[in-house]
Amino acid sequence: MARVFNFSAGPAVLPEEVLKEAADEMLDYNGTGMSVMEMSHRSKAYQEIIDTAEKDLRELMNIPDNYKVLFLQGGAHLQFAMIPMNLMKNRKAGYIVTGQWAKKAFQEAKLFGNAVELASSADKTFSYIPDCSNLDITDDMDYVYICENNTIYGTKFWELPNTKGKDLVADVSSCFLSEPVDVSKYAVIYGGVQKNIGPAGVVIVIIREDLITEDTLPGTPTMLKYKTHADNGSMYNTPPAYGIYICGKVFKWLKKQGGLAEMKKRNEEKAKILYDFLDRSKLFKGTVRKEDRSIMNVPFVTGDEELDAKFVKFAKENGLENLKGHRSVGGMRASIYNAMPKAGVEKLVKVMEQFEAENLK
Ligand SMILES: *Cc1c(COP(=O)(O)O)cnc(C)c1O
Repeated sequence: MARVFNFSAGPAVLPEEVLKEAADEMLDYNGTGMSVMEMSHRSKAYQEIIDTAEKDLRELMNIPDNYKVLFLQGGAHLQFAMIPMNLMKNRKAGYIVTGQWAKKAFQEAKLFGNAVELASSADKTFSYIPDCSNLDITDDMDYVYICENNTIYGTKFWELPNTKGKDLVADVSSCFLSEPVDVSKYAVIYGGVQKNIGPAGVVIVIIREDLITEDTLPGTPTMLKYKTHADNGSMYNTPPAYGIYICGKVFKWLKKQGGLAEMKKRNEEKAKILYDFLDRSKLFKGTVRKEDRSIMNVPFVTGDEELDAKFVKFAKENGLENLKGHRSVGGMRASIYNAMPKAGVEKLVKVMEQFEAENLK
């Protein structure tokens, strides 16, 4: 069995060490004689798993005490609704639309109130981050919403918007734990873990405590109130138990690597290898304005759809998987998350160089 270099945008590559550990513990977790999959979530062994996961995440992100960490289900998509249901007290919020995920969140919020588009980069196929230094934010807005790293288009907010004192809500699905973050600048940070943390099925919500109230929009189901989950330690009902266990292992792995500062260093180094090549290549080119480039998701094209398809096939033959771009934009996309080793990016560049030499007319 040979492992490939997997550039999938999500579900995505996980650290090999974590997978091996999980395999070792599959039949007997820590002397319990059972798999974590088979364990009651009310057991002492499981309580320790979820408590440790939360503790390690708090340490990694330096999460202040007045923030709750929730392990939920329903993916990022359910947060598109939970956020307005819980936070849109005045029924008005501002959305910055920088891609498909931000747009979906914006549209979902319209079901609940007046969602206002504060800025958008749709005019240039979401290839840049709009200027957010002086947006038309009004006093009656409950929050300002961003998708911090745009997985499909490969842009990243390197500077947070000026929210003029309003609470900032951020979908960080595809840049979660990729670099140190000042949690206190946000009201809510959330993300599906299947991009940069763990297996699909878990969404982590980090939310400032004062936002967790009974005062949700009328008709909000019990399961969709942050308070329900906060009051019950993310175990109001059966949590995605095995997924949380794997996330916990990834947190331990990240700590062992040196934490988020070290991950940032490695991620920047990996991204630079690829972007430097794209900038000098005569065949491939990046699609994003330079100052807005993501270090997690790197889209690129040859400018010829047939050649793109030929490259994806060539890459696959060379052990590089899932380089096809999102179905909505075409071209290629390399997702180079925390668990992608530098060797994978180096190999990718080598294969691109070879393809270029053979195909440049
Ligand atoms: C993948 C992704 C989503 C959608 O996640 P689901 O878990 O499928 O709901 C939302 N936002 C971002 C930034 C993503 O990368």
